Amino acid sequence: MRIILLGPAGSGKGTQGEMIERHYGFPRISTGDLLRLEVEKDTALGKIVKKIMEAGELVADDIVLEIVRSRIAQPDCKRGYVLDGFPRTLNQAILLEKVDGSRPEIAIEIQVSEEALKQRLAGRLVCLQCGTVYNINNNKLSQCQACGARLTVRNDDRPEVVSQRFRIYRETIGPLIEYYSKKGVLFRIDGEKTPEEVFREVKSVIDSRLN
Ligand code: AMP
Repeated sequence: MRIILLGPAGSGKGTQGEMIERHYGFPRISTGDLLRLEVEKDTALGKIVKKIMEAGELVADDIVLEIVRSRIAQPDCKRGYVLDGFPRTLNQAILLEKVDGSRPEIAIEIQVSEEALKQRLAGRLVCLQCGTVYNINNNKLSQCQACGARLTVRNDDRPEVVSQRFRIYRETIGPLIEYYSKKGVLFRIDGEKTPEEVFREVKSVIDSRLN
């Protein structure tokens, strides 16, 4: 089973991906997290993608595909996996089928208004050490509750970069939706509810396909 989470920045793909991982044991693969790790470690790849990510642009398809291809070849992905942030373009979706085409799949689009997203992203802090994401709209936090490391604002969560990320999302999501819709595997979910309520819907979609 391959579960593809579609949705703009801040829509809750990461949160739902983690909930799916915990419940079903399908590992969550976030291309954003994997790329940020390369940047953090200052690898050759990290050096190439840093500026692109900071500007809110898309990293080249071949780079992202290679990251995904090697990750899904790991034994823990045999039963299934959850993709968070990939595919981002129709071309990536087609390439994904080429490298791992034989699986049943579900694409879930998490829908949230841009207004709500902007508010969420303005209050988002992340732990660069363990990846935990916090929303500080309602509380004051400076340390990760999971590992104790310092929390930081993601470089690409600055308002001007957020606008660019939304623009790219609007430009690229249409063909992806059409692609998965034609395949009969697209589900749309209201992402403005609580994470638990959203997960209940995600779960009913997954369960309907697993049984
Ligand atoms: P995310 O954490 O999913 O919001 O991704 C953060 C950034 O990583 C994006 O704004 C892109 O610069 C890059 N990125 C992540 N996934 C992809 C992808 N599938 N294709 C191209 N760039 C990506």
